[in-house]
Amino acid sequence: MKIYNAITKTKEEFKPIVDGQVSMYHCGPTVYDYIHIGNLRSFMLGDIIRRSFEYLGFETKQVMNITDVGHLVSDGDDGDDKMTKALKRHEMDITLENMLKVADIYSESFKTDLKNLNILTPHHLPKASDHIPENIVIIEKLFEKGFAYTTSDGVYFDTKKMPDYGKLGGLNLDAESESRIETNSEKRFHADFALWKFDEKNGWDSPWGHGFPGWHIECSGMSMKYLGETFDIHTGGYDNKSVHHNNEIAQSECSTGKTFVNYWLHGEFLNLDGEKLSKSTGGNITLMTLFNKGFSPLDLRYLYLQSIYRSQTDFTWEIIESSKKALDKIYRHIEALKTQHGIGKINPDFQKKFSDAISDDFNLPIALSIFHNMMKSDISAIDKLATAYNFDTVLGLDLEKHTSIEIEISDEVQTLLNDRKIARENKDWESSDQIRDKIMEKGFKVSDINGEQKIETL
Ligand code: AMP
Ligand code: ZN
Repeated sequence: MKIYNAITKTKEEFKPIVDGQVSMYHCGPTVYDYIHIGNLRSFMLGDIIRRSFEYLGFETKQVMNITDVGHLVSDGDDGDDKMTKALKRHEMDITLENMLKVADIYSESFKTDLKNLNILTPHHLPKASDHIPENIVIIEKLFEKGFAYTTSDGVYFDTKKMPDYGKLGGLNLDAESESRIETNSEKRFHADFALWKFDEKNGWDSPWGHGFPGWHIECSGMSMKYLGETFDIHTGGYDNKSVHHNNEIAQSECSTGKTFVNYWLHGEFLNLDGEKLSKSTGGNITLMTLFNKGFSPLDLRYLYLQSIYRSQTDFTWEIIESSKKALDKIYRHIEALKTQHGIGKINPDFQKKFSDAISDDFNLPIALSIFHNMMKSDISAIDKLATAYNFDTVLGLDLEKHTSIEIEISDEVQTLLNDRKIARENKDWESSDQIRDKIMEKGFKVSDINGEQKIETL
């Protein structure tokens, strides 16, 4: 397995900390709004990595955070907190309680988006607000080792004390630029970043004062809690690299004295009209937007699979249309194969080529082309089906389950669906999940698209 490592800027042979096991952390969403399809591309990267490793026989442990407090609108240490912005938009009082309420709405919608895109639910999906003590412990260690200092508005990391600060690159550490960039005159150096921000009214108690953790420290706290002080892989969107990830490295390595992460991977942007797709550039396209235009989440998954994670890719309505057509064609071909009765053997030659493609820094476009070559090849129909299902454990296109045939459901299942709908309307997620499990026991998978329940056979 070869992986492009942003620390060394080279494609390296992957060496896990523990043989046959991979531990990975993915920077997740700040749940201040609905997730757009640009965000989803960065979360797809984690899924592709996990599925590829599992295909190759590794055991995986995957963590993705949910940031529900403390993320400012910019990577600097000023401006609104993203969650505070959400409260203003919802015309709610700025309290911690309200912040967590709003976060809950968008977290649920985020988890539903992951399921609809067939992104496997990470083994841990920790919320930042549940991990404040972990952050405090790290900051205490940083104080003990002389890496932290207090100003009137918070606690800061002293970047000048860390000789290799900024090793992922992308930071302007030129002392001369200080006067141009500096906004907080109490900081010792312009690159110093907040570990804790004071807030008298909201937040949590800490040894330094009431307030919120800085958003970089949240990821250090959650990743090290679930994966240990050193783990294998850390991912995030490309825009997380220079500030957020350099700062995660700084506070983690200076508190533990150990290497934080062995391999750093960054997902490139999904662009709209040549620019990073984002709400501010009018690209607020969600799975719901796609659904309203007749596209399924898996049409989007297919679109993502066609480009390497390290290259930018464009979103246009023509491209999603052609992805949909290509995927429909695959489903029709699979359905034709299903009529052959029985399932054969995985073709070893194609399987080897497929494994080689995903082992080359997760090259999914090549893996997809191998899938197409296999489907066009002269191997038997039943072997094709077996091989397609095998590849689909990585591709995640639901080839086995997908059917265009109308599903007949019993009155009992229909009643469960009605009950689940009511539970979801009442935001009773616990009952909703229990009913979903009962529906699964009856042999159906239920997912939610645009507020509607979609049912498929298991
Ligand atoms: P946020 O919720 O704003 O913290 O963003 C969550 C993740 O989405 C971050 O890792 C971003 O890098 C990523 N992201 C945001 N916009 C895009 C985009 N257009 N393409 C790919 N990733 C993106
Ligand atoms: Zn992060």
